[in-house]
Amino acid sequence: MLLFGCARAEAPDPRWFSGLYTFAIAHDLRVEKLPGTDSYKLANDRVELVIVAGSNQITANGQPRMLARSPMVYQGSVYVPTELENHIVFAPPSPAIPSPGSTRGGARRKKPELVVIDPGHGGKDAGACGRFLKEKEINLAIALELGRYLTARGVRVAYTREDDRFIPLDERAMIANKAGADLFVCIHTNATRSGTARGFELYYVDDKYSSSERAKWLRGLSIPARYGCRGRQDELIRTIVYSILLEEGKVASRELVESVKRSMDAVTASPNRGGRPGPWRVMRLVHMPHVFVEVGFVSNPEEERQLSSLSYRRSLGEAIGKGILDLYP
Ligand SMILES: [Zn+2]
Repeated sequence: MLLFGCARAEAPDPRWFSGLYTFAIAHDLRVEKLPGTDSYKLANDRVELVIVAGSNQITANGQPRMLARSPMVYQGSVYVPTELENHIVFAPPSPAIPSPGSTRGGARRKKPELVVIDPGHGGKDAGACGRFLKEKEINLAIALELGRYLTARGVRVAYTREDDRFIPLDERAMIANKAGADLFVCIHTNATRSGTARGFELYYVDDKYSSSERAKWLRGLSIPARYGCRGRQDELIRTIVYSILLEEGKVASRELVESVKRSMDAVTASPNRGGRPGPWRVMRLVHMPHVFVEVGFVSNPEEERQLSSLSYRRSLGEAIGKGILDLYP
């Protein structure tokens, strides 16, 4: 936040301002600080307001709105102008808000129309190598099985590669972003030096963005139409929408990881090593919910043998696909 001159911050006038939490309790709103910003989300079943300390621009159910007075920080506490209640009463309808009675995120549980599948490595980059298998080959075979499974169930699929070629990580993310994918699925195979480790594991990205990645993300971000701010993508609106998307994406990715994990667990005797946040660059650059699947260890002789089998590859590909679709009953 920029401060002009060196005027001492004035106490909020109680005629116009209320403490953030007092206001939230009075209006039955949950408060959430959005990661990495001075933004706060105030939400209930019907309305979602995003405010930024020091700015008179807000969003109400994704639509940009102006306040006469800006929310402010005074002695470490956030104060909001009481006029904010007008935006609760007159909030525009939003498809982004779950309807009452639906589960959290229920409104987003629209079956994905386009899934971009990213078979890791390829071409000059073989990935991890076992005694006779290369990771790039396993990843591609399972990715294609996953794609067939989804296509047969009416989901459109695109791949970052469909053959043995090298694609840089940033380009993979760009393919998914440009295509406007609803979900992004990375398929990889693990390896360790010792060769004893086995099992599958899954990752998603949480909010560990560096500021340069955040800036890149913002520059590349095209705001979904439901936020109603096409043509008005100034920096602040982009920052607010970024925070919302990041939060939504995190929740959706976590759900995706859990569902795919359950589904894989049901088809393989290979140990379930769990799902957790991971640092993978390709997932940090995509704008949509994602899951990064390590299907097994090519360095483990038993798993390498399994991973060479067509039927095992198919059952893993189908399990990943089922895990995705299980989320959209
Ligand atoms: Zn890999």
